[in-house]
Amino acid sequence: MSENCSHNCSECGSDCSERTAPQSLLEPLNKNSSVKKVIGVVSGKGGVGKSLVTAMLAVLTQRKGYQAAILDADITGPSIPKVFGIHGKALGSEDGILPAETKCGTKIMSINLLLEHEGDPVIWRGPIIAGAVKQFWTDVKWGTVDYMFVDMPPGTGDVPLTVFQSLPIDGIIVVASPQELVEMIVEKAVRMAEMMHVPVLGLVENMAYFECPTCHDKHFIFGQSHIAELAARFQIDSTAQIPIDPALAALCDQGGIDTFTGNWLDQMTKFIVQ
Ligand code: ADP
Repeated sequence: MSENCSHNCSECGSDCSERTAPQSLLEPLNKNSSVKKVIGVVSGKGGVGKSLVTAMLAVLTQRKGYQAAILDADITGPSIPKVFGIHGKALGSEDGILPAETKCGTKIMSINLLLEHEGDPVIWRGPIIAGAVKQFWTDVKWGTVDYMFVDMPPGTGDVPLTVFQSLPIDGIIVVASPQELVEMIVEKAVRMAEMMHVPVLGLVENMAYFECPTCHDKHFIFGQSHIAELAARFQIDSTAQIPIDPALAALCDQGGIDTFTGNWLDQMTKFIVQ
């Protein structure tokens, strides 16, 4: 037992033999920062548009007049700086690492801002990756943030689990491709959130259809959508569908996601940001 034991385990992080309450695994936020809400953006697999959706939700939140931030926890596949056209290095101060700022004012932190060359692969074991994510929370001087979006690593493995345990996630948005909605992959992501006692705020079906630029007919290339069915089954209140849009892909490639147009996520943003 510590010499200064207050006999109130909920106030103490020490893992001593006298502990009567479970130890919280939550990491402390950087001492010069305040973050009002933390929203995780998750997917069952990589490449389904999770980073794109994270970026668009942050841009829409910022456009509503709130201070948004993105913590890029997808350490082995970081794409947040790229979609915003940020290639510089993060700067440090005595109180911590300073996040980069996008053109519309969203604060971001990603491993790509710390690597010597942004094309370098991150070949680290799980605990080191998890440690980097925790440091993004504790060592980055975020300042005052209204809504922080966490671009989570895909899947339900070690690193997503650490993120759920270490950061005070208020809710998650699940991003899936049309194929994933018919497989068990979405169910796994939803069940993981349930087990971590985190509410699922929304379900996004990305690349849901293609809209013909000439006749504006919607073509459901992967078959009719199953999003309504799944949302009802898991009692998810907010859903959105994003089409396959070459203009979106081009904006991501050019680093211009700040300027995207399209109302696909407007309702969901209204639902989250209230
Ligand atoms: P994830 O974060 O799930 O790995 P990304 O958001 O990085 O996926 O998206 C993977 C690639 O697919 C990116 O190049 C992105 O521009 C493209 N992409 C994602 N969604 C769309 C879409 N709806 N229309 C066109 N391209 C898209």
